[in-house]
Amino acid sequence: MRLDKFLCKSTKLTRSAATEVLALGEVSVNGSIVTEARFQVHENNSVLWRGERLIARPSRYIMLHKPLNTLSSNVDGDYPSLFHCIDIERAEDLHIVGRLDADTSGLVLLTDDGRWSFEIIRPDKLCPKTYRVTLRDPIAADVAEKFNVGVQLQNESKLTAPAMLKVINEREVLLTITEGRYHQVKRMFAAVGNRVNGLHREQIGDLQLDVVLGNWRFLSPQEVAGFL
Ligand code: URA
Repeated sequence: MRLDKFLCKSTKLTRSAATEVLALGEVSVNGSIVTEARFQVHENNSVLWRGERLIARPSRYIMLHKPLNTLSSNVDGDYPSLFHCIDIERAEDLHIVGRLDADTSGLVLLTDDGRWSFEIIRPDKLCPKTYRVTLRDPIAADVAEKFNVGVQLQNESKLTAPAMLKVINEREVLLTITEGRYHQVKRMFAAVGNRVNGLHREQIGDLQLDVVLGNWRFLSPQEVAGFL
C-alpha cells in the first residue's frame, strides 16, 4: 500500500496531514527517511513516525441494508447519505462498492480496502448481483429469453450481458445481472416496455443480505475471501 495511506491507516492523520509529515522527513521505512507519498510499503516493513513504530489498522468490510431515500454517497444531497446508518469510527475512510439509486434499497458493501472493492466491481469478474424487482405491468412471457440473450439499452451500442430472470409472480421477479451499468435494471425493463416500481438488491456474489433495514454488520474473513 502507498505510504501516505499506511500513515492514515495507522494514525489519526488525514491524507493531507500524512503528506505534510512525509515532506518534513518525519517518517522512516526500514531505517531510511522516505518523503514520497507514493512509496509502497508492505505489512512487514518497519515504519516509524517520530520514532514510534506504526501498525496499520486492519481493513474493514461491511454489509449494510440500505433504506429507501438514502444516497450512495459520502455527503448528503436531496436525501441523507447512507453513511448516517454507519456509526463507527472513521466511517469517512469507507467507500461504497457498487452504488444503489436513492429509490433502491438493499445490500450495499462498504470497505476501506480498495483492492477488495476492485475485485468485486472489475467488469471481467462478472460478479452476479440479484435484485428483487416490482413491476408496473405483468411480466411478458418472452422477457426471460430476451434478458438471457441481452437487450439494447438506450444510448448504448453493446447488448447487456446474459442475465437471469426468475418470475415470482406476474409483477414480482428476481433478476441477476453481472454488469453494473448506470440504472441498469430500470433500463433493462424499460427496454422491454415495462417499468420498475420497486427495486431491492438481495445478493452480491454468494453474499445474501441478512441484516434488517438500516442495520449493518462486519463480514467474516470467509465472506471477505469469497470475493477474491
Ligand atoms: N439498477 C438500477 O436501475 N438501479 C440500481 O440502484 C441498481 C441497479
